[in-house]
Amino acid sequence: MKPAPFKYFAAESIDAALQLKAEYGEDAKFLAGGQSLMPAMAFRLALPEVLIDINPIAALAYVTTTVTTTRIGALTRYRSLERHAEIARSQPLMTAALPHIAHVQIRNRTTIGGNLAHADPASEMPAVMLALDARMQVRSQAGQRVVAAQAFFAGTLSTALLPTEMLIEVEVPIASARTGVAFLELARRPGDFAMMGVAVTVQIDEDDRCIAARMAYCNAGDVPLLAIKAAQSLIGERVSDARMRDAGVLAQTEIRPLGNVHATPAYQRHLAGVLTRRALAIACERARAGEHA
Ligand SMILES: Cc1cc2nc3c(=O)[nH]c(=O)nc-3n(C[C@H](O)[C@H](O)[C@H](O)COP(=O)(O)OP(=O)(O)OC[C@H]3O[C@@H](n4cnc5c(N)ncnc54)[C@H](O)[C@@H]3O)c2cc1C
Repeated sequence: MKPAPFKYFAAESIDAALQLKAEYGEDAKFLAGGQSLMPAMAFRLALPEVLIDINPIAALAYVTTTVTTTRIGALTRYRSLERHAEIARSQPLMTAALPHIAHVQIRNRTTIGGNLAHADPASEMPAVMLALDARMQVRSQAGQRVVAAQAFFAGTLSTALLPTEMLIEVEVPIASARTGVAFLELARRPGDFAMMGVAVTVQIDEDDRCIAARMAYCNAGDVPLLAIKAAQSLIGERVSDARMRDAGVLAQTEIRPLGNVHATPAYQRHLAGVLTRRALAIACERARAGEHA
């Protein structure tokens, strides 16, 4: 099928894009990598009257790092993040997850802003953003605000973005020392969406006790989900095999998998338990070794 007719504007600046969005509101969609929007339009699942192409806005594609934070512009492509030495150093969880997202050809086009704004609960990066406690900088002509990842994802394909707002930048805190990370997922084939995926960060002290832990899941509900009780069960404890297994069992009770043609909710829960245990073991080993990833 072909998309329904639409008006097309190429925005040369953030201001121009925001002005168009203020004018057309919900009738307009930003066009970033086009890897979700164009198929949806071709199938007429999305029928925007106006496309605001943000690809000409070179100023929206960047990575900068301070001692505490990595800042990533919304138009930064996944393939460039995947090969970015600074991302590998400061955000190894992102580097671990990126190769699982679709295929190289798709990652050449996909942008972090488009992927997060699309808010597919099966998508890997929203769960990674939750595990890393990232913040989204969003802007409209009325001003700018910052939304925590946990508040950003509102439902399936739905975010906290207002009809006049654009995602401008993702701010990702840089982990403290003795933090290890791991991303694991199970998909039927490489490049497919995961049946279940988990992003883990764990910080342990010199005595091998857990100081902090976050476990976030993709394809575990209508939004990416944190297993809060499972993470709390590890705090202050030596992270033994038994503790990690118990955390996996707790996580199984916290997620809300919906099931699909490839996996029943029961199988997704099973996967969450197994993947949690394995990812925790990898992350703890990395934390002990003083490596991030
Ligand atoms: C075959 C195939 C396999 C795939 N597999 C995976 C996978 O395994 N995991 C995965 O996560 N994804 C997968 N995807 C989806 C892919 O990663 C998409 O590219 C991504 O979800 C959307 O990013 P985009 O830059 O292409 O955005 P677009 O398709 O251009 O836009 C997506 C949505 O976000 C909005 N938008 C874009 N930029 C902004 C912005 N800055 N501010 C506000 N709104 C914005 C658009 O208006 C649109 O509604 C797959 C896609 C294909 C075609």
